[in-house]
Amino acid sequence: MTASAPGGTQRPSPALVRAELAAWVRENWDPDMTLRDWRELLLASGWAVPSWPQRWYGRGLPAWADELVAAELIRLGAVGVPVGSGSWLAAPTILAHGSDKLKDRLLRPILTGEQTWCQLFSEPGAGSDLAGLSTSARLDGDTWVINGQKVWNTSAHHADMGMLLARTDSDVPKHQGITYFALPMSQPGIEVRQLRQMNFHASFNEVFLTDARVPQDNVVGEVGQGWGAALTTLAYERRFSALQRPSYSAAPGRALDAARAEANDHFATYSWYPQRAGRADLVIEHARRAGVSNDPVIRQAVARLLTMQRVSTWTAERARVARTLGARPGAEGSIGKLAASNIARESARVHAMIAAAAGLLSGPDSAFGGLIAEVLVSVPAQSIAGGTDEIQKNILAEKVLGLPAEVKVDRDVPFSQLRHRG
Ligand SMILES: Cc1cc2nc3c(=O)[nH]c(=O)nc-3n(C[C@H](O)[C@H](O)[C@H](O)COP(=O)(O)OP(=O)(O)OC[C@H]3O[C@@H](n4cnc5c(N)ncnc54)[C@H](O)[C@@H]3O)c2cc1C
Repeated sequence: MTASAPGGTQRPSPALVRAELAAWVRENWDPDMTLRDWRELLLASGWAVPSWPQRWYGRGLPAWADELVAAELIRLGAVGVPVGSGSWLAAPTILAHGSDKLKDRLLRPILTGEQTWCQLFSEPGAGSDLAGLSTSARLDGDTWVINGQKVWNTSAHHADMGMLLARTDSDVPKHQGITYFALPMSQPGIEVRQLRQMNFHASFNEVFLTDARVPQDNVVGEVGQGWGAALTTLAYERRFSALQRPSYSAAPGRALDAARAEANDHFATYSWYPQRAGRADLVIEHARRAGVSNDPVIRQAVARLLTMQRVSTWTAERARVARTLGARPGAEGSIGKLAASNIARESARVHAMIAAAAGLLSGPDSAFGGLIAEVLVSVPAQSIAGGTDEIQKNILAEKVLGLPAEVKVDRDVPFSQLRHRG
């Protein structure tokens, strides 16, 4: 059998997938072709997203094949589909919930890198309580007209498209009147304002929608059924919160140059994310440089932090192997996200212990060229982005441990009758 023949009697093995991919890359990869041409080949071959159906650029392989093939393409010196909210969040949501026409129109430009996306979910009054959102959408002929405000929208200042949640019916309970739209970002009704953060970066935005327009065909799923599609996006967001920048080959070539430039462009917005994660990798060197690596209290704190980090790596690795063996994704998204918050906070605490009063200094002359100062003011974001720690604990308590659900008095009341909306 071949790895491109789903439904065979034998399950495709990782070794078989690797071998078949390597043979295909040997035959087709040419670093001097344009990145666009290379990605068109990837799409046509089904190696773009191998777990997807053949009709949409895949091979119908098990879910583990996506991670494996993405890593193998880079190891072989080639390039895969682009990184970013488009391929990580919008594409799997559209694949799961969109009509065939929408899939035909929207998936290809995401996978070739022609269109980038941002997530327009959170609002000033709706973050953890996302279903309480109040941005509205009203149908006018064959176009939806959108009014409201979004906030915290990473990369909205340079995205082509937005994953937009808006309320299309206020007379039903809050989860039922939401619709998921694919919103073209470049239009007069959309104003994007960058927000300056306390670490001086500006990676997210406020987005003001004033009579912004979305074609009727751009509804993802059914009108009023957007909550289900939103949950799909959020599940992918938790799963991919730890995704790394691809380390493309440094070899010359047109496609490689373009892929490196694309990654530089994308990750410019996220340059502070390693600091947000706490930079546990720097604690030992930091202690040495500060002359405190023999201090027993510091040594204890460093050992505790690195132990937490090692345990978390093993948990993630166990989950990855389970996926490779065909297990359904479980609680590891929420567990991993919580562990990342705990490690980031502990790492910031250890860096602050090591730096002592010098931890108050910032700028290029401070420890590690300003990186430690950036850690101390970036770490709080880790436990908020993509769903707060408390929300992850609620998910684990209810979905994994089977504890009684949180009391929700507003679940069955029509949205328009909720008192705080008045
Ligand atoms: C770096 C970063 C990037 C982001 N990018 C995006 C993006 O691209 N697009 C987007 O739409 N959003 C984005 N967000 C927004 C993020 O999803 C929200 O900030 C998050 O969901 C929390 O919502 P909130 O800020 O309104 O806080 P709130 O929901 O107001 O929470 C305030 C506090 O109350 C607690 N709390 C709330 N409800 C409960 C509960 N039921 N049980 C227990 N405790 C509770 C919370 O845990 C928190 O401590 C981003 C946020 C950050 C920090």
